[in-house]
Amino acid sequence: MTPSIAHWISGAPADATSGQQLPVYNPATGAVTGQVQLASHADVDAAVASAKAAFPAWSNLPPLRRSRILFKFLELLNTHRDELARLITAEHGKVFTDAQGEVTRGIEIVEFACGAPQLLKSDFTDQVSTNIDNWTLRQALGVVAGITPFNFPVMVPMWMFPMALATGNTFVLKPSPIDPSASLFMARLLKQAGLPDGVFNVVQGDKDAVNALLEHPDVQAVSFVGSTPIANHIYETGARHGKRVQALGGAKNHLVVMPDADMDQVVDALIGAAYGSAGERCMAISVAVFVGDETADKVLPKLIERTRALKVLDGNNLDAEMGPIVTQAAHDRITGYIAQGVKEGAQLLIDGRGFKGEMAGEGCAEGFWLGGTLFDHVTTDMRIYKEEIFGPVLACVRVKDFAEAVQIINDHEFGNGVSCYTRDGHVAREFGRRIQVGMVGINVPIPVPMAWHGFGGWKKSLFGDMHAYGEEGVRFYTRQKSIMQRWPQATAKGAEFAMPTSQ
Ligand code: NAD
Repeated sequence: MTPSIAHWISGAPADATSGQQLPVYNPATGAVTGQVQLASHADVDAAVASAKAAFPAWSNLPPLRRSRILFKFLELLNTHRDELARLITAEHGKVFTDAQGEVTRGIEIVEFACGAPQLLKSDFTDQVSTNIDNWTLRQALGVVAGITPFNFPVMVPMWMFPMALATGNTFVLKPSPIDPSASLFMARLLKQAGLPDGVFNVVQGDKDAVNALLEHPDVQAVSFVGSTPIANHIYETGARHGKRVQALGGAKNHLVVMPDADMDQVVDALIGAAYGSAGERCMAISVAVFVGDETADKVLPKLIERTRALKVLDGNNLDAEMGPIVTQAAHDRITGYIAQGVKEGAQLLIDGRGFKGEMAGEGCAEGFWLGGTLFDHVTTDMRIYKEEIFGPVLACVRVKDFAEAVQIINDHEFGNGVSCYTRDGHVAREFGRRIQVGMVGINVPIPVPMAWHGFGGWKKSLFGDMHAYGEEGVRFYTRQKSIMQRWPQATAKGAEFAMPTSQ
């Protein structure tokens, strides 16, 4: 019997009342390793009620005392970092060192959130009018929800709940049903750190659980990370139900190679950023843009050699550079795109469909395996250029000059991440200023902003105004209140009917 993966409500595991569940797989072997229970509306109601009941006491706790609990959580995360990473590899498939990196990037947000007392400091103006002072507060919203994708089962929830909790909100997390176990592990660590019951809850499930959260009158705000069509749906539905929403969507990230770039660095960057985590990162590079045929001709022979030599192995093998694809359905989608690219006339330099599970290690024959795939002569009208593939497929596009490189990127519907490799400071500066993308790397392939800078794309990669974490995270999870105060002197002066001014 495989384990049954439940919710976490009021500080304890709670079984779903729907009676429905979905299998959870080890993508490396294809074996079913668990069953995740799916929330009914009643389960979502129970989780929200638990968070609502916990809100008055939690939001009233001095921020420093909330931070002390987060400090304890931080300590526990550091102690259990590798266990969490192993859990990620077991259900997502990414290689263990990459999973460790994911946990570390999540931990950095907790470190930042521990500084919430400083971030919640308000401003104050003495004597805005005679005997009157004015100041602003930022106060917690109430119950907030986070809906997260499969590709970062630890880091993406940590983009959300540490900031939400530190600023005084209570939280309901709806993780991806594909890799649900890490959410419960984090819930246990939070409890162990001393978090009061009900402040952090998990509901497992899919579409129905999400829609129940979006429609729930007691949920004040929703943070979402996932694909663009669902992000759009979350934004529209959440807004229709009066909620504050930040919904981060899909991506198609370009790396521009200028003729003066260091080509060895370019090859390293492309290999790591296109095939790391099997391309299942929203900041993965899926398009290489070569400025000039000569640039392409310098890079491609090395890129072909390195792509062929990729160590595609079971993620638990410490030599592995790339693991399996997360599910059979994702595998089918990606191989469908490879066939589509061939049909559209792109030149398939390396076909990952030739990679078989047996080559990845013992017991992997039935896993969801694919090798690194490389296309050249991809053009901007092809579906493999326009759509997000979300797999280990790198499309090479050739352009005549820098201006054309900027133009095609600015014309693309996504605007999450982008990178430019050059040794020319002016080109780098112009690129940073002209490009219509939210996160830009100059000689950096995956420019995921640090905890205090905030994460978010442009165009169809983000619906809403505020980015995840950083100071925007504080603003998202709080609302401003202005207080104007006068302590009356002994004698009243009579009612004032004109608009109050400082005169
Ligand atoms: P997904 O959109 O399928 O699922 C995301 C979440 O939405 C999950 O919790 C899922 O259960 C829920 N969901 C799925 N279908 C739904 C529906 N019809 N109605 C309501 N909820 C639904 O995404 P995924 O496959 O888990 O993750 C990969 C996607 O996430 C990629 O598109 C990737 O680019 C994107 N992503 C974006 C960022 C970013 O910061 N922009 C970060 C990570 C991943």
